[in-house]
Amino acid sequence: MKTISIKNSNQQYTVGKIVCVGRNYAEHAKELGNEIPEKPVIFLKPASALIHSREKIIHPTFSKDMHHEVELVLLIGKTVKDANKNEAEDAIKGYGVGLDMTLRDIQNELRKKGNPWTIAKSFDTSAVVSDFVRKSDYSLTLDEEISLSVNGQVRQKEKLNKMLFHPAEIVEYISSLMTLEEGDLVYTGTPAGVGKVEVGDKLVGKIDGVGELEVVVGQ
Ligand code: ZN
Repeated sequence: MKTISIKNSNQQYTVGKIVCVGRNYAEHAKELGNEIPEKPVIFLKPASALIHSREKIIHPTFSKDMHHEVELVLLIGKTVKDANKNEAEDAIKGYGVGLDMTLRDIQNELRKKGNPWTIAKSFDTSAVVSDFVRKSDYSLTLDEEISLSVNGQVRQKEKLNKMLFHPAEIVEYISSLMTLEEGDLVYTGTPAGVGKVEVGDKLVGKIDGVGELEVVVGQ
């Protein structure tokens, strides 16, 4: 079982499911040649894919084009189903920074065939997370900057307020599709600047006020 930790606390949560949003920043949707969605694009990762900052991403041998996607991650603190916006906001317990590692070559093949993205998104080590900051300890304004650097070079950098769908709207929408439970994580989509990583690369993801993660890519 996978767990996540809360900053300045001994509290841990067992992770249930990981729900991800695709195409939540207009510039990122455009860079991959996608339309701007009317509703959030939703997919899942298994909890078994999760690793923490300072663990190692293992590059799958069946892909030649693994991409970084840095994202704000929401920690769900209570069970919600068909939540309204206030209930959705209330269900968000805390925030972390995450990487939704993606096999772009595999994803493009799957998209062409109209198949699910599962193989491109669900491999072991494909979901990286930092420790989480409780909402009661830090209130997110969305003026925060999210960034990712590879070997010290900034590749992704954007304000969280460029998200098309904001955290409570995302939780409200997901809860209309499936029950969210304590310990579930929601990856809220990546800004523009995604790109390939190689074995040996060092990735640092940050969100002002929320946290930081650091991982290397291994084989
Ligand atoms: Zn993503």
